[in-house]
Amino acid sequence: MEPLKMRPHHSVCLHFFVGKGYSDAFVENMSDIKHALEKDGGLRVAVTEGGDDFCAACPDGVKAACAKDGKAAEYDEKCLAALGLGFGDTVTWETLCSLAEKKILRCEGARRSICGGCRWDAVCQHAYVENLSKALKTV
Ligand code: SF4
Repeated sequence: MEPLKMRPHHSVCLHFFVGKGYSDAFVENMSDIKHALEKDGGLRVAVTEGGDDFCAACPDGVKAACAKDGKAAEYDEKCLAALGLGFGDTVTWETLCSLAEKKILRCEGARRSICGGCRWDAVCQHAYVENLSKALKTV
């Protein structure tokens, strides 16, 4: 089975996903992926540059803002540096999830220093502040 393609910052987004997104198809795809990872943390994930298996369901495709030199790419680069991983690495979801929690979500200010400019920042920050333990629950 091919590993799931996941750009680095989506390992953070997954912790805050509450069924909101760019379209019904996008939300359904993200929910399906999240449930699969919840069911089997041993699933392999390929750390991907540019569009991934989440972007595949985006109504706009891989938009300029999500392409290599856009804002999302900046989030990816910062995430990679924090996680200590590189593009092309393949790890289990358990490993990636745990790294995201330890290296980003449990470090005050780290998440916002990576993706504070995202349009969903308020949603994620609300989840973080209001219910940290739930937000950090291993998915
Ligand atoms: S602010 Fe945006 S990029 Fe950051 S975790 Fe939330 S949805 Fe993902």
